Amino acid sequence: MRIAIVGLGLIGGSLALKLTEQGYAVFGISRNLMTCEQALALGAVQACGTELAQLQAWDPQLVLICTPLEQVLPTLTALLPYLSAETVVSDVGSVKQPIVRPATQLWPLFVGGHPMAGKTTQGIQSAEADLFVGRPYVLTPIAETRPQTLEILQELVAVVGAEGVFTDPARHDRAVAWISHLPVMISASLITSVSQEVDPVILELARTLASSGFRDTSRVGGGIPQLGLEMARHNRQAVLANLRSYQQHLQQIETWIEKEQWDGLSQFLEQTQREWRQFPVNQPQP
Ligand code: NAP
Repeated sequence: MRIAIVGLGLIGGSLALKLTEQGYAVFGISRNLMTCEQALALGAVQACGTELAQLQAWDPQLVLICTPLEQVLPTLTALLPYLSAETVVSDVGSVKQPIVRPATQLWPLFVGGHPMAGKTTQGIQSAEADLFVGRPYVLTPIAETRPQTLEILQELVAVVGAEGVFTDPARHDRAVAWISHLPVMISASLITSVSQEVDPVILELARTLASSGFRDTSRVGGGIPQLGLEMARHNRQAVLANLRSYQQHLQQIETWIEKEQWDGLSQFLEQTQREWRQFPVNQPQP
């Protein structure tokens, strides 16, 4: 299969590396000639260009739009003159509702996708062929989605070593608000709270003592600001609803501690210990 990737950043670059490694013919489009040179040097693509018009010559069966979320629909619009009638298009954006229906109206062979893997760094220099191995890769068909788009995307998901998960864009956005977007806001607040410790000696000591617990809870808040902003702007309702729920729990914890109601806090922590194990990602690896 011939695959074109538009936007050779962390996600686009990682997909390109893996697909090339698996023997697919991968072509890259970047706004930046230097990124193209890097992609070629890494062996991520077999050809790369800075003009969307180059797609016509490569005639890909699949185009993956791996730009920031705001650029997915403008990029698709700009691509339209260069797509052949059978070309399937997908994106990798972390929010699906604002994208999937308008994109399908623009191009009926569109299907939304979201590989659930990332890093705190961006750009092709951070790309890894195995970034998606064992991770969920969400596909979000709607009633208008053509079956052949799903066949091609399922092949892609399998080839990058991911686990396909099907849901609709609205459910996707509500679920990722809980496990991806809310954690970014919580983690960012944690970093800010610690950093605002007024005693410089305590702050320095806290930084020195910070170990795996702080690293785990602060990691996503210390990531790329643009991604957090993207989540909040485009998944606003779900993020707001989840922030409110989270604040209620924090408030409850504060009350238990203030009133020294240790039974309440203890039962709560016992319950969260049980619930934590319900997430497959927290279960012991075989
Ligand atoms: P990234 O490393 O910054 O890559 C994005 C790439 O998009 C850039 O390298 C750039 O490629 C291109 N781009 C940037 N601004 C553009 C613009 N104005 N117009 C056209 N192209 C532009 O970011 P990423 O982490 O790969 O994120 C890309 C997409 O993946 C986003 O939609 C995000 O929601 C989604 N996503 C991210 C993660 C994550 O954790 N990072 C996880 C899952 C999904 P060129 O310089 O080559 O043009």
